[in-house]
Amino acid sequence: MRLLRAGAVIFSKERTDMWIVPEREIAGLMTRQAAFDAVERVFAAMASDAAYNFPVIREAIGHADALYGFKGGFDRTGLTLGLKAGGYWPNNLAQHGLINHQSTVFLFDPDTGQPAAMVGGNLLTALRTAAASSVSIKHLARPDARVLGMIGAGHQATFQLRAALEQRDFEKVIGWNLHPEMLPNLEQVAAEAGLPFEAVSLDGMRVADVIISITSSFEAILGADQVSPGTHIACMGTDTKGKQEVDPALLARATVFTDEVAQSVSIGEAQHAVAQGVIAASDVHQLGAVINGAHPGRQNDSEITLFDGTGVGLQDLAVAARVVDLAVANGIATKVDF
Ligand code: NAD
Repeated sequence: MRLLRAGAVIFSKERTDMWIVPEREIAGLMTRQAAFDAVERVFAAMASDAAYNFPVIREAIGHADALYGFKGGFDRTGLTLGLKAGGYWPNNLAQHGLINHQSTVFLFDPDTGQPAAMVGGNLLTALRTAAASSVSIKHLARPDARVLGMIGAGHQATFQLRAALEQRDFEKVIGWNLHPEMLPNLEQVAAEAGLPFEAVSLDGMRVADVIISITSSFEAILGADQVSPGTHIACMGTDTKGKQEVDPALLARATVFTDEVAQSVSIGEAQHAVAQGVIAASDVHQLGAVINGAHPGRQNDSEITLFDGTGVGLQDLAVAARVVDLAVANGIATKVDF
């Protein structure tokens, strides 16, 4: 029960329901399309200053070699307030049979600050990250893109590939990975979509119209001269200070977009190009501005566009809020008297 003051009258109102949606239910509720729509909408809200992300906290906690932190924000248009808490426990799989990335999303009632939902965040993270590169392809890749290049073949890469294939009439998938034994992960997703897959060298990426990089690399993999004019690149792996996937000179050749500029220049792929003075922070544009029509986006067929997807808290909140709606509508969410 909470008290609301209207003029001099104090009256009571039932508190907001608190819902729990466990991780095991997410796969049956969330679709790629729903994640895409939620992420596209929140990127647009960020670019029109209707939504903002709070500074990211990420700490080595000195236990279990874990990295733990928070990503949060508030979207005034969607009235979504909250945070994702979680991180990386490198020994989980070997020691506990659990996946190494663990996260949970908490939503709050923006009118009162009361908790509104607790939602499993592991699959949602994969889906919202795949949605981000997919949104960038929709808005920045050439309409006639036919060859999709993947750099990285781990857990997240398969989600990125599935979502990307829905954005253009791709005819072929090519892939490179530091650990080539992982490339069958990509081949399998391509086969599900009825497409041929070819393992290539990094020089082989020159035939790609769209490239997605999604690795945990700490040094540049893709050279500036290994990308052809007209290509769209989504750099998705660099989400922490020190990580890097592409040569900073590639950012100088490209028109650079991101989810959020502050993250792009501090923990994203642009951190290196900006630190080296190759580009300025003002050269990095919000993808949301393209979605809103405030930025023209790609302007010709030979332009290289690069999306620096750093992963923002508002993406997590947007997909979690959608899942709560779906779970409540389907009678799957658990209501808690908190
Ligand atoms: P994973 O461990 O399943 O796969 C890691 C991938 O990186 C593999 O392809 C591996 O071969 C490759 N790799 C490992 N070390 C490398 C190195 N030194 N140089 C080049 N390649 C290397 O991890 P994942 O879940 O697929 O995540 C991949 C990356 O994406 C991670 O860095 C993760 O932090 C990042 N990520 C970003 C976002 C975002 O929003 N931007 C969201 C989720 C994950």
